Parts: sequence; structure tokens; C-alpha cells
Amino acid sequence: MAQSLKDKIAAVTGGASGIGLECVRHLLDNGAEVYIIDFDAKAAEARAAELGDKAHALIADLTKYEDIEKAVHTIVKNHGRIDIFHANAGSYVADMPWEGDTKRWDRMLDLNINAAFRCVRAVAPQMMEQKSGDIVITSSISGMVPMVSEPVYTASKHAVQAFVHTARRKLAAYDVRVSAIQPGPVVTPLLKDWDQERVKANLDSGGIMQPVEVAEALIFMLTRRKGVIVRDLVVLPQNFDV
Ligand code: NAD
Repeated sequence: MAQSLKDKIAAVTGGASGIGLECVRHLLDNGAEVYIIDFDAKAAEARAAELGDKAHALIADLTKYEDIEKAVHTIVKNHGRIDIFHANAGSYVADMPWEGDTKRWDRMLDLNINAAFRCVRAVAPQMMEQKSGDIVITSSISGMVPMVSEPVYTASKHAVQAFVHTARRKLAAYDVRVSAIQPGPVVTPLLKDWDQERVKANLDSGGIMQPVEVAEALIFMLTRRKGVIVRDLVVLPQNFDV
């Protein structure tokens, strides 16, 4: 039988917007209690209030390890455990290698790579002690295929993939599953960097999808039987030509 998510304790970083928010909704619909971890306090608190008493907001800046550690401690203090950690938050730059503000690159690299790693560092000991848990990182199709239209971003997600594939093997011995989901383009505020022609071409050709497609795939991953892992799940709009 597939595993139920009823009464599971879950956290989603970047859960106040886009893909993360849709994943929060789906986790709640499947019976989990969910913590939105986000640095946008206003949005996180508003979304948690809308979503009912099983949804909570924890304000944390993922660029600071102490914030992540504090969020994990709060969840464990409240429930004695944490079953699901979705390290989802990320940002985007579309710059070519010869242009753009490298400070902006650094901020994106720190969030997409280091913050995801920091989350695993903070939550893994608790899950190892429990001898159970699911860690899922939102990667991207850009983590599977080098996308020439986004060299810096694609490199960040390749780093995520390498970490997931190695961390998974080390944590498997503790019955902790580490996996990644790799969406193609999704309609969220993250794509504000895309030039308008690219947005229009993808909208016209059906090369972009809604966050619900990612959230449903996440639920599929999390409900797999104990002893099985969906290590990577690529979800693409059907006409995305990569
Ligand atoms: P989004 O911009 O809608 O949401 C990102 C969320 O992360 C926001 O709520 C924001 O406040 C939060 N956040 C950003 N920096 C933070 C920080 N330092 N601390 C705490 N919270 C922070 O983005 P999205 O499109 O939903 O992207 C989510 C993930 O999906 C990212 O990892 C992204 O790379 C990945 N992804 C997105 C697409 C896409 O086309 N949108 C495709 C593939 C993968």
C-alpha cells in the first residue's frame, strides 16, 4: 500500500509562493500538518492564516544557518519529530557568463545550493534519530540537462543533483529518503527574469505548466512504500522542447 501522509509533520521552504505554496496546499489536503518556512513574513503568515489551523508560518532567512536550525528546533519541540522536509526555496538569474551583477549570482548560488545543503544539515540528525523521514529538494530540469539559456542557474541545480545523489546513499542506512524533483518551466513569480519573448513562446507552445503539476508529483514521491524511493522525478510541460 502507498503510505498515507495523514498526521505527518512537514515543512516546506519557500512555502509562501509559487511551487512551495501549492505543495503546502497538497500536503494539507493529504492530512499533513505543515510549516511554511519563508523569509517573507507577511506572505507566509497570510498564507498560513488562509490555510487553516494545520498550517503554520515560521519566519527564517535560509541564507542563515541559525535561522534554519531554529525553525527545525521549533518543529521538533512542538511535535517531537519531523517527517517531511521539502527544501524548495530557490531563485533565478538568466545572465550569460559575460554579463550581469555577480553579487546577484552569489545570492542565487547561496540560496539554490548552500541553503538547500544547510537545510539537510539541520534536519538530517533528527530524522536519523527517528530512523525515518523524507527530504525532497526542488531541483529543476536545469539540474538534469545543461540549459544554455541559463548557465549560472543550470550550474546551481547540477550541484543540487550531485548532493542529492550522494546524501541519499549515506542517509539510506538510517531509513531517511533524500530525493529531488525536477520541474520544467512553471508559472510562478520566479520567471520574472525571463524575457517577454521567451514567456510568450512558452505560453503559446504549451511549454509551461502550473504549480499543481509539481505538487501532485511531490505527493506521489512522498507516498511511496517504505523501502522504495523515487530518487528523481522530472515533470515537464508536454511541449517543452528539451
Ligand atoms: P517563487 O519565487 O514563487 O517562490 C520562492 C519563495 O522562496 C518565495 O516565497 C520567497 O519569499 C522564498 N525565499 C526566497 N529567498 C529566501 C530566503 N533567503 N529565505 C527564505 N525564503 C526565501 O519561486 P518558485 O518558482 O516557486 O520556485 C521554487 C523552486 O522551484 C526553486 O528552487 C526554483 O529553482 C524551482 N524551480 C522553479 C521553476 C519555475 O519555472 N518556476 C522550474 C523549475 C524549478
